[in-house]
Amino acid sequence: MSKRDYYEILGLSKDASKEEIKKAYRKLARKYHPDVNKEDDAQDKFKEAKEAYETLSNDQKRQQYDQFGHAGPQSQGFGGGFGGGAEDFGGFSDIFDMFFGGGGGRRDPNAPRQGNDLQYTMVLNFEEAIFGKETDITIPKEETCETCAGSGAKPGTQPETCQHCHGSGQLNVEQNTPFGRVVNKRVCHHCNGTGKQIKEKCETCHGRGKVKKQKKIHINIPAGIDNGQQIRVPGKGEPGANGGPAGDLYVVVQVKPHEFYQREGDHIFCDMPITYSQAALGDEIEVPTVHGKVKLKVPAGTQTGKTFRLKGKGAPNVRGYGHGDQHVKIRVITPTNLSDRQKELLREFNEISGNEPMDEHGDSFFDRVKRAFKGE
Ligand SMILES: [Zn+2]
Ligand SMILES: [Zn+2]
Repeated sequence: MSKRDYYEILGLSKDASKEEIKKAYRKLARKYHPDVNKEDDAQDKFKEAKEAYETLSNDQKRQQYDQFGHAGPQSQGFGGGFGGGAEDFGGFSDIFDMFFGGGGGRRDPNAPRQGNDLQYTMVLNFEEAIFGKETDITIPKEETCETCAGSGAKPGTQPETCQHCHGSGQLNVEQNTPFGRVVNKRVCHHCNGTGKQIKEKCETCHGRGKVKKQKKIHINIPAGIDNGQQIRVPGKGEPGANGGPAGDLYVVVQVKPHEFYQREGDHIFCDMPITYSQAALGDEIEVPTVHGKVKLKVPAGTQTGKTFRLKGKGAPNVRGYGHGDQHVKIRVITPTNLSDRQKELLREFNEISGNEPMDEHGDSFFDRVKRAFKGE
């Protein structure tokens, strides 16, 4: 895509004054700002106008552009404005500020600010979630740079007060508008609103005042934690600015599914296979639970799908309110690969009991269907 000429974009001649450039940009910005113009190409047009304005409103950049055009040594950097997020636009209110003298209330760049929160995803297996876990995790974390103690300036030097905004991080912009002369505050673009300028940058952090480090943090996962729950570790997020507190670390728990158990809240569910004869004759079976094996009496005539409850054999409540239960659903397994002798016995059994399945009241399935037809 060939880039349009910046003057052409703003509809100006090469000798346009600063005031004319501003005016032309404001006009386009009001027309194409994505907050107000929902047409497909509005966003691109807004970005294009913004880029043109940013170059032509800066004496140095404009000179470069006039001399070298888009291929100029400086202009490559401006392309970064394309494809960025919404913050590239500046709020629509910023543009209104220029007209109506709004604004004010911009944050003080030197005020203490809390650091960013961090999020870490921890994968636990089923039992670890039930019983909790103490562990160390290693996270990449922003730390205050030790070389410069967070100032970003080379040791022995100090960040200097920005001469453009005198440390306030804001610039007063005086403008003649159709509504009269207004003075507005804008974020100082020389220091990005920090109020400081670093002449000689710290070599460790390249002026950022922070460095990325691998940090080991001890985490105590409480027993009974469930998939999707998170643990807040206060003060273990990124460091704050200007003496502000650090952010928090959030450990989000992901629990791996289990082959045998499913969990709903504090209750654990499982399927328990039993044989045909155990179901018919009754038996005492051993059921695995997360707390060890538990004996369960299966009464004679137990149907498949019947559920038994093992009280207190579920997961501990993460807030310490006792335990859930384990619900055991019986699945009667039809025998396969029978021996000749087994087949013989089953045939004999069949002869005695007949071919129709009986329910627990001694009614056959077909009896019930017949009665349903008669409307009984
Ligand atoms: Zn540093
Ligand atoms: Zn400044």
